[in-house]
Amino acid sequence: MNMQKIVGIIRRIEDLGRVCLPIEYRRALKLFSDEKLEIVSDGEKIIARRPLIINGQIQLQGDLRKFDAKLGRLLIPSEIRKIFKLSTGARVAISIDGDELVLRPLYEQCVFCNSKENLLEFSEENICRGCARAISAKVAI
Ligand SMILES: [Zn+2]
Repeated sequence: MNMQKIVGIIRRIEDLGRVCLPIEYRRALKLFSDEKLEIVSDGEKIIARRPLIINGQIQLQGDLRKFDAKLGRLLIPSEIRKIFKLSTGARVAISIDGDELVLRPLYEQCVFCNSKENLLEFSEENICRGCARAISAKVAI
């Protein structure tokens, strides 16, 4: 078992609830061909992992979804997307913990003050107009 940790890359949910895994992540988890992964959620994060098999019996705690090796895509079950309100374009932070792929939904809020109102997107982050104005006032010549 590899106990590596890879922390933090942000990806967006694509249409039909798929998420594209970066090649380094696929390599770390040895995901080179199509296979089914178990997708579970603990209410805070989404975990994708190979299902546990004991005495030839598959032990399932979540739903199985196919990992598409050619496109590097994993489908997030719609029930889980609903729980986290993950619609197309929503962002998730992807990391690896041991043998598990961990996806943490990122809620749309200002990176500085956590406001959820009047957001602008800049460099893959959200900034509220208030903070954007304060920054531009600081840098204005
Ligand atoms: Zn702000």
